Formats: sequence, structure tokens, C-alpha cells
Amino acid sequence: MKRVLVTGAAGFLGSHLCDRMLKEGYHVIGMDNLITGDLKNIEHLFKDKNFEFYHHDVSKYVHVPGAIDYILHFASPASPIDYLKIPIQTLKVSSLGTHNLLGLAKAKGATILVASTSEVYGDPLVHPQNEEYWGNVNPVGPRGVYDEAKRFQEAITMAYHTYHGVDTKIVRIFNTYGPRMRLNDGRVLPAFIGQALRGEDLTVFGDGSQTRSFCYVDDLVEGIYRLLLSDYHQPVNIGNPDEITISQFAEEIIKLTGTTQKVIYKDLPVDDPKQRQPDITRAKSVLGWTPKVDRSEGLKLTYAYFKSLTKEELYDSKHRFA
Ligand code: UDP
Repeated sequence: MKRVLVTGAAGFLGSHLCDRMLKEGYHVIGMDNLITGDLKNIEHLFKDKNFEFYHHDVSKYVHVPGAIDYILHFASPASPIDYLKIPIQTLKVSSLGTHNLLGLAKAKGATILVASTSEVYGDPLVHPQNEEYWGNVNPVGPRGVYDEAKRFQEAITMAYHTYHGVDTKIVRIFNTYGPRMRLNDGRVLPAFIGQALRGEDLTVFGDGSQTRSFCYVDDLVEGIYRLLLSDYHQPVNIGNPDEITISQFAEEIIKLTGTTQKVIYKDLPVDDPKQRQPDITRAKSVLGWTPKVDRSEGLKLTYAYFKSLTKEELYDSKHRFA
């Protein structure tokens, strides 16, 4: 049985990856420091004899006994609110943490896939964004701690590949949504759905003309799984190119939830990218991958999850920062 280490296992994407790898017949070692992750996302896995969990911060030396065949490095805060509240941890997990995991991959002869992000393109001057574009990032802005750590992550991952011959993969993840997103992480989808469920107005930042392209989590996981098993080492965008303005998105959430609340406008956060859409030509040709779940279907599944949360969870505005 192949053994895979998933970092950030208790997070939104990490937990879905644990599910998928177990389903594919791997032994899964989940690791998380639980700063932004939540054990609730993986509590259904603890009864599985092929799942084990380490409560550990990968920014510190990572020790895992026994063989490891694959590493999926998905530990990182991933929302602008988190970057503001825990900027140093955000920097450390994708720099020091990635370094530790690359060292582990080298020692164990494992294949490692690191989670990069469309944020490496910053506020892009090229549209849609393809992997050849180098980006437009403000290193000292509020998002700099995330964007630059992820850019460093890509650089050190490539260096381990070219210098040490480690089998590395880099996925650039665009906005993704689905069940288990943290309700209070500040991201637009949980923000809007949470507001609708609590009977609050929906807060659109800026004039709402900025765009995003939302990918359903199952599609993303499929793309990542294909990349992991490929022999491709350059970065690959995975995302859904179906682009929408944030105003239109608010209207869709109003329709979906049937809320009678209205849209209110708030200041646009500093360095908020004006437009974002993945060019997925490379994913199509290298992995034979395209997203399958359209937004109306994905939003229904996601809404069903948020509706199943308890009242306490719905009104809990606390962040889980340890
Ligand atoms: N946004 C918004 N209202 C909110 C939260 C976010 O209008 O309550 C906007 C935000 O300014 C950005 C877009 O929605 O333009 C997506 O934000 P998110 O934080 O989800 O992701 P990112 O900016 O990292 O793509």
C-alpha cells in the first residue's frame, strides 16, 4: 500500500484530498497544526485504519517514521483575513515548511506536489492568466506575505527538482469552493452564504466589478490527482475559467438562498486583484483535465453544506488562531 503525507489535512482542500487518496487505496498520514484547520473536517476518517493524524506545525522539522511515497503540501492560511492576522505563520509555512517537506521528500525518495496559487500572478496585467506570465505582485502589501511565500515555494521546489532530482509538481490553484470552507474565513462565498443564512445584507467590496472564476472542489481534486501521477514538473493552473463579477456572484447567492436581504457596498481591500481567470490550456493538454461541475450545481451542493451547520457554528465569528 502506497503511503501519502497530506499537510493541511484538516483544512478545506487538505481534507478533501485525504478523502480522495483513501478512496484511491492509499494509506494517508494527515498533518495539521490546527491554526486554521478544523478536526471536524476529518473526524469521519479517524475510524479508518488507513488514516493517521499528526498534530504538527510543518514550519518545524518534520519527522514521519516509515516509508512515504507521496507528499501533498497543502498547509497554509489561504484567505486575505488570515494573512492580515497571522502574517508570519503565513510566510513560514510556505517557505520554511516547504523546505522541510522537500527535505523529507528527498530523504524518503517521495514525489511531492506543492499547492501554489493564482496569487503568484498578483493583480494580473495579462488576462486570462497562463503559466508563462510572471505576475504583478506587491511584495510589501497585505497579500505580500502569502504571494511572496508561494513564489518562494515555487522557486525552492524547482531548485530541489533541478539540483537534487526530487520528483516535484506545482499546482497553481484558482478560487475554489465547496463543502468544508470555513464559514468565517472572510472569503467571498462563505461570507455571502453566511450573511444570507443569518439574515444580514451581503457585503460587496468595491463596486463589485472585479472578477473571479470559481472551481468546485471535486474538479480541483481531480486535477491535482492527475498532476500528482503525471511526470510534469512545470506549474499547472487548475481552476474553472467561468469568470463572473462579484456583483453578479452576489445576485446568484441571493437567488440560491432566497434571502430578502440586499447588497451593501464596502471599501475594496488593498491590492484586491481586479480580474482573475485561469488559462487551462496546459491542464487540458498535459493532464486531459477540464472542470465538469458548473457553478449552479456546485453552489447547490455547497449551500446544502452550510445549511447543515449548527446555529453556534453559523454565529461563531471567532477565528481558530491558536
Ligand atoms: N469580497 C466581497 N465581499 C466579501 C468578501 C470578499 O466583495 O464579503 C470580494 C473580494 O474583495 C474579492 C472577491 O470577493 O474581490 C474574492 O475574495 P476572496 O477573499 O474570496 O478571494 P481572493 O480575493 O483571494 O480571490
